[in-house]
Amino acid sequence: MSYNISEIVSNFCIEGNVAAIIPYGAGHINDTFHLKNTNPGLPGYLLQRINHHVFENVPALMKNVQLVTDHLKGKLTGIPGSSPDKEVLTIVSAKDKQCFFCDETGNYWRMYCFLKDTKSYDMVLTEQQAYEGGKAFGKFQLLLSDLDSGLLYETIPGFHNITMRLDRLNKAVLADPKNRIKDVLTELSFIIERADQMATIMNLGKEGKLPLRIIHNDTKFNNILLDMNDHEQCVIDLDTVMPGYVAYDFGDAIRTIINTAPEDEKDVTKIELNIPLFKAYVAGYFEYAGSFLSDTEVKSLSMGVLLIPYMQGVRFLTDYIEGDIYYKIHSTEHNLQRARAQFELLSKLEKNYDVLDQIVHNTAKKYIQITTEIK
Ligand code: ATP
Ligand code: MG
Ligand code: MG
Repeated sequence: MSYNISEIVSNFCIEGNVAAIIPYGAGHINDTFHLKNTNPGLPGYLLQRINHHVFENVPALMKNVQLVTDHLKGKLTGIPGSSPDKEVLTIVSAKDKQCFFCDETGNYWRMYCFLKDTKSYDMVLTEQQAYEGGKAFGKFQLLLSDLDSGLLYETIPGFHNITMRLDRLNKAVLADPKNRIKDVLTELSFIIERADQMATIMNLGKEGKLPLRIIHNDTKFNNILLDMNDHEQCVIDLDTVMPGYVAYDFGDAIRTIINTAPEDEKDVTKIELNIPLFKAYVAGYFEYAGSFLSDTEVKSLSMGVLLIPYMQGVRFLTDYIEGDIYYKIHSTEHNLQRARAQFELLSKLEKNYDVLDQIVHNTAKKYIQITTEIK
């Protein structure tokens, strides 16, 4: 679909004039454009068409982003040496003072100041990068830990709710619209064997033992901008910022960092754990998160490392059974292959659970007086 971007831009309060409009970045959800300014002394902008099929209530989503970015900027303003404008996304208002613009075809647009001299990586390659990733998301959670999570709207209801994900799988199994159940019996038994254990984090939350906090919910590495020296600078992509448990963000970040193979690896023997990258992420994460996590939250982190690949595998398998509706596929069994890769990763994580948990525990001890036994 093509848009008159200049017309869209004219609805925002920008400084100077736009010299060039360039499709930008490697995002899968929104359409992103970099707007260069005619005057190099003035800032550039980042324009995004927000995917309103994925996010049904864009005004509420943008209210979340406004609330969170205002809070982050306010907190950083009090910290010497911080640069709130570089470390937090800045929303550019539309001319009607709203934080988004809705065009006549019903598309929603938003604009941020472009953060120049930054880069994002799709994959973590070095321990230094993993460490910076841990710092970025640890700091993000820390700075938001005093903002009431009840103020935020749930942009995707039940996003990390494993019971809901399993219910959906169950429905797909009963309907079996593509006659694929016969091919996935091993995977279904694997899921059923672990279903009770995987509800632990949610149950601890329901019992009031884990606080609902504001979390990012999409902690992949390319959602962090690094500066030119590879130091973390800004957490971006705030569309899924919602109430949740810290273990979800931790597990989601580790899911890709620790896997030596791509998410859809066909040859599962190539799936191994990169434990030095895990250790580096944990070290960076606790530098910030160590000051606010409770001991039950610390204990929940390793459970999150098991839960998130499990949940992702359940989602891929559900989509395979339903006939590949949600994820784009490149071959008939792509979703099945993805699910199998997640379950292989999970098996390896389970075998190494004690090692991983010990790394978390030993790092946590430097920051937190642990009152109950972690294991
Ligand atoms: P995803 O597939 O992760 O959901 P998305 O479609 O939601 O991605 P974003 O992550 O918001 O899109 O942005 C896409 C890319 O644009 C980022 O990976 C980053 O490289 C770049 N980017 C985003 N915001 C800025 C900014 N304010 N300044 C500079 N670059 C940015
Ligand atoms: Mg992104
Ligand atoms: Mg996104």
